[in-house]
Amino acid sequence: MIAYDLQCSRGHVFEGWFDDEAAFLSQQRQGLIACPVCNDVSIARLPSAFAIRSTGGGGTQTADAERIVNQVATFIRSHFEDVGSEFAKEALKIHYGVSAPRNIRGSSTPQEEETLRQEGVAFLKVPVPATPESDA
Ligand SMILES: [Zn+2]
Repeated sequence: MIAYDLQCSRGHVFEGWFDDEAAFLSQQRQGLIACPVCNDVSIARLPSAFAIRSTGGGGTQTADAERIVNQVATFIRSHFEDVGSEFAKEALKIHYGVSAPRNIRGSSTPQEEETLRQEGVAFLKVPVPATPESDA
């Protein structure tokens, strides 16, 4: 299915769903598409920023998302120093120049995250798949 933004000759904009572009063109030519507001059959297609395909592709999207998450996790593991549960403490030390500035990763409690926010420390929460800490 494809969704098109349509407009009648009086300027009403509405959305129409069609099997494909050929189906739309055929229905448009035969005057089968009517404006839901004024019943005008003089319909034009608006340039649409998006066309949605609802069939297929669901599985690959999930696979892509998993791959991206794994790539991010790998990047973080190799570029960020693991400070474990000391994350909030270490982030504050770096923030106040006590520790050398560097990329760190680790875990923090909601309370610690709140403290970091109040102190204005920039941090990012990333869902990282659990792995055995073999690189520690
Ligand atoms: Zn209309």
